[in-house]
Amino acid sequence: MDRDPLLDPASRDEADRALRPQTLDEFVGQAEARANLRVFVESARRRGEAMDHVLFHGPPGLGKTTLAQIMARELGVGFRMTSGPVLAKAGDLAAILTNLEARDVLFIDEIHRLNPAVEEVLYPALEDFALDLVIGEGPAARTVRIDLQPFTLVGATTRLGLLTTPLRDRFGIPTRLEFYTVEELHHIVTRGARLMGAPATEDGAREIARRARGTPRIAGRLLRRVVDFAVVEGDGTVTQAIADRALTRLGVDGLGLDGADRRYLTLIAENYGGGPVGIETISAALSESRDAVEEVIEPYLLQQGLIARTPRGRMLARKGWDHIGLAAPDRLDQ
Ligand code: ADP
Repeated sequence: MDRDPLLDPASRDEADRALRPQTLDEFVGQAEARANLRVFVESARRRGEAMDHVLFHGPPGLGKTTLAQIMARELGVGFRMTSGPVLAKAGDLAAILTNLEARDVLFIDEIHRLNPAVEEVLYPALEDFALDLVIGEGPAARTVRIDLQPFTLVGATTRLGLLTTPLRDRFGIPTRLEFYTVEELHHIVTRGARLMGAPATEDGAREIARRARGTPRIAGRLLRRVVDFAVVEGDGTVTQAIADRALTRLGVDGLGLDGADRRYLTLIAENYGGGPVGIETISAALSESRDAVEEVIEPYLLQQGLIARTPRGRMLARKGWDHIGLAAPDRLDQ
């Protein structure tokens, strides 16, 4: 789901690509993941071997695809990209695997959405760099093993819990990406403004960073929209006043929440007395898919302490009540 109505999806890839960091040094944030990857890349390079398989998990827009591309570049190998839902048949994946060159990086986005028949093909490929092809049908069928070039699979998922255990176990390097701090996003916005040739004041860049939901992709989108306002309604400079006015007009509040986030909080407060309320009920009431609610809306609300997940459902935390300007029930004080 593209939750951001501010953005024309057609222009997204192009604009995103222009802001994408190209090297591990240029990549801001995710310090721990970056430091580890640097060691694994260097070791694979020195040994002249394919790097072990990597699984990136975390909410959308935190840099999974970007890191996969950077890894290929730093390893000095080719990069192939596909995604779980695109690989409909086992043969689709087999065709990609047999075309890989030695030590290439194959990136599979949304790997939790692989069809089970396709996933079966992946197991021997990951473990032994081999494809098991079934030739013929019925009692005459037999399996032929084809060797593949050694390669590195980089899988990305927003839903670690939906990965099957056998698939998960085949990644030597599972890496969780975290939301970015305001400081890190401030760096990213400043760099983005420079690349776009749009001057930004320190305060202006910080205002965007504060309201970017901890997510570089959102920071990039908001920056582009604020630049539009700065050009048309100001002198072209991204100042704090322009950023504040633009973001407020676009429905992005002081914490960076947008209309969908606020509808979520208000729904639990007004219709369910603050919860607990089940995820199915929430997604039905918001007319959003359950996946979208769990992958896109909730992670940031949880990280900000606006809501809590309990065994009986979602509950609004005190900070959530405060944020929508309603009085929390007394029970939250106990
Ligand atoms: P994901 O694959 O996790 O959904 P992407 O790798 O596509 O996220 O990142 C989304 C956009 O955010 C990229 O186009 C890139 O411009 C920007 N981005 C992500 N991580 C960073 C970072 N650490 N520094 C600067 N820009 C980033």
